Amino acid sequence: MAKQFVKWIKSTLTNLIDPERENRVNALAAGVSRGLREEQKAFSLSRFKASREHNTQELNEAVQIVYRRLMERVWSDGSVSEKENLQLIWVQKSLELADREAMAIRMTFAEEHFRNALAQAMEDGCLSEEEEARLAHIAQTVGEPTSVFARRFFKKEGEAFLRGVFHASIEDGCLSREEWQSLVSMSHRLGISTDELLQAVSRPASEFVEQVLANAKAEGTINSDQESTIIWLMSTLKLSPTFVEYAREELRILRHKLEIAEGRLPSITKPDGLEFRSGEIVHAVRQATLIVIRHLKSGEHRESHNGRLILMDSRMVFQSETMAQSINYRKIISHRGGADWIEFQVEQKPVWGLRFDSPDPIMYLILNKAIALSNQTALRRGGEESTRHIPRDVRQRVWTRYGGKCADCNAHEYLEYDHIIPVAKGGSNADANVQLLCRRCNLKKSDHI
Ligand SMILES: [Zn+2]
Repeated sequence: MAKQFVKWIKSTLTNLIDPERENRVNALAAGVSRGLREEQKAFSLSRFKASREHNTQELNEAVQIVYRRLMERVWSDGSVSEKENLQLIWVQKSLELADREAMAIRMTFAEEHFRNALAQAMEDGCLSEEEEARLAHIAQTVGEPTSVFARRFFKKEGEAFLRGVFHASIEDGCLSREEWQSLVSMSHRLGISTDELLQAVSRPASEFVEQVLANAKAEGTINSDQESTIIWLMSTLKLSPTFVEYAREELRILRHKLEIAEGRLPSITKPDGLEFRSGEIVHAVRQATLIVIRHLKSGEHRESHNGRLILMDSRMVFQSETMAQSINYRKIISHRGGADWIEFQVEQKPVWGLRFDSPDPIMYLILNKAIALSNQTALRRGGEESTRHIPRDVRQRVWTRYGGKCADCNAHEYLEYDHIIPVAKGGSNADANVQLLCRRCNLKKSDHI
């Protein structure tokens, strides 16, 4: 790129300094072309040189232009016949074009046609014999077997190419095992090893997994197809161990969310140091900080206590060295929460806030459901949930707009769809009001307590 730019600057500068140069080169090229056409094999560049005044470098450029134009004509039907090949050979000789220069030009044509033919072959996911023969023909125009040509081609731009193919095959949001298998076998037939293929697609594969996860988070659910695709991708493709660990954790949370939404709350072993009523079920225990907010005449007063929160089927208990509280769910008149905080109010008591030491989105979901179940009511937030839901097509466009990256910090993991103006404040699901944020930036944004 930089090289091309320098070349462009140079030629622009030369043309600026000597605006007639391009015209002279073109006139030389036209002269050489005419000579070739009229004299055919009898044409001699030496004679042409002797016949008119010229600059060596300009003539060399003109010769290359003529050869390139011939290549264009030869390739116009998509192949190089035996007759055309012989023509290329004698023209090269007549033009006194060095083998290296001629080969460089032939190579650019072969590469371009190889790229197009490959793209076409991969479009339907399988390499027909006809397509394979076509690739072989193109490689042969520079005197190479397909595998050698393909190897060099892939070394130069194969990664980008395979990435493109991979992207195309997962455009519909899923990659079937058959599609992957055909990609593998196609690569093999072109001389590309499975390892090289995996190397090339590991980045887009992570991006794909991330997108499926972000979608699942927005839906609040993941279907078994998507889940098995993700698990299979992670076991087949060489994704980084930290990414796999993260994705597994996300899947675990999603599965939990789904179960919670269906009313199946987790049940865990009772922790020590607490008296339980008979038949009581413990759903979750987390380290947390309780913050009591009192609105006094002198202003807002906060006191905090470090301890643990225990969620049970009919009550929650907060325990710390400085205080212990048991709160019956039926006494809670309002509540809201997020991944690392919960805020609630009990009749005639100040507002209580809870902050978790490490974020866990399922804590509030459990509490929310447990309260609903013990009050025998449907989810109070049901109505809001449905307006909060971001339609799939909006999500697709937003994902593309942010290139699968966090709008704030460019992270490409832990991504969530976020309403720029929250739904509770009248924000809508319009494209312009939805952004991609990583969990960290999203938490930063929704710092409530
Ligand atoms: Zn971020």
